[in-house]
Amino acid sequence: MSSQNDGWNTAAGQRVRRRAFKRDREANAECWICKGEKGPIDYSVRPSSTDLSYEPDHYLPRARYPHLALDLANIRAAHRCCNRSRQDKAVIDSLGNTSGSWRRG
Ligand SMILES: [Zn+2]
Repeated sequence: MSSQNDGWNTAAGQRVRRRAFKRDREANAECWICKGEKGPIDYSVRPSSTDLSYEPDHYLPRARYPHLALDLANIRAAHRCCNRSRQDKAVIDSLGNTSGSWRRG
């Protein structure tokens, strides 16, 4: 639940998302999750509109590093499909968080 308060879904978060997209599009950055295995990210379409479209991914997950949620340096370019499958793992992660025993930061 704390990830709701990291600012990612606020207007400030939207600005960071836009800046990350512009930065990565200009650099023609490849997906850091599959390392371009699925092909280049399609920067010609709107972010998150197709499987191969751009989606900003947090290198250090927001759930555990909410203070880095809006840090551009923590945002990596990813395919939407790669980011989604990674988030599936994050769901398992967050189940572990309920115990609070190994959660840090
Ligand atoms: Zn990918």
